[in-house]
Amino acid sequence: MKFCRFGADCFGIVEANVVYDVTQALDVLPQVRYPLPASDPLIANLDAVRERATQLKKHAPAIPLDKVRLLSPVANPGKIIAAPVNYTKHLQEVLADQHLHHGNMINHIEKAGLFLKAGSSLIGAGDNVRLVYTDRRNDHEVELAVVIGKCGRNIAREQALDHVAGYSIGLDMTIRGPEERSFRKSPDTYTVLGPWLVTKDEIDNPGALDLLITVNGEVRQKANTSDLIIDVPGLIAFASSFYTLHAGDVIITGTPEGVSPVVPGDTMVATIERIGTMTVQVSAA
Ligand code: MN
Repeated sequence: MKFCRFGADCFGIVEANVVYDVTQALDVLPQVRYPLPASDPLIANLDAVRERATQLKKHAPAIPLDKVRLLSPVANPGKIIAAPVNYTKHLQEVLADQHLHHGNMINHIEKAGLFLKAGSSLIGAGDNVRLVYTDRRNDHEVELAVVIGKCGRNIAREQALDHVAGYSIGLDMTIRGPEERSFRKSPDTYTVLGPWLVTKDEIDNPGALDLLITVNGEVRQKANTSDLIIDVPGLIAFASSFYTLHAGDVIITGTPEGVSPVVPGDTMVATIERIGTMTVQVSAA
């Protein structure tokens, strides 16, 4: 099933080119009081929401997809966890290009570990990526995004996919330069999640998905998640050996070779097999 958030915090089921507005399904969510839970309430209660949404869909208004503004399918992730250089050919291109590494030490992912992006960087496909410091190089990175569905710590690789709620396309936008990775990748709008959440039952194997991004119609990155150095179960095991994973946490799994600059006015179109396609405009902040 494909769930989206759109418009003024509406909630929908996506089928073909239509969104069924099932916002009322959110009424099943528990009332939240301060202090807020560590998990995103929608993702933590997705099974109950799904059941109610499926009932509501029978009489729900159908809206053409191109008429809605898509929001991030996860509103309140506790963490956005990201994998640096998790494709061998991307590691090679970074090491070979001073404009990519800027003298930073680039380690193999097993040595470098993972990093976090600010929650405030997150947008959906209906927003623009608004570049800060347009005098510097800003790059796109297309990545498979994994949304955690069940809390866990020290999760074994064999159980890892049981902790997944679903998958989205992630864009890990990046200013190149000498600063720490997390800082360069965390300005507002520098994490795009969308176009929707595909529940995990629709993707048996997250390790065999074609991914692609074009900029202004030109193919820039084209790869398959089978080329990941640490695969999705491995990333969940690795991440959860350092921190508890909560429902709604997002893991963006790393980008393949072909990263390249974008400038205001560019149009990025990102596609991942079995998830879909999202179009994201680039503008200046
Ligand atoms: Mn990345």
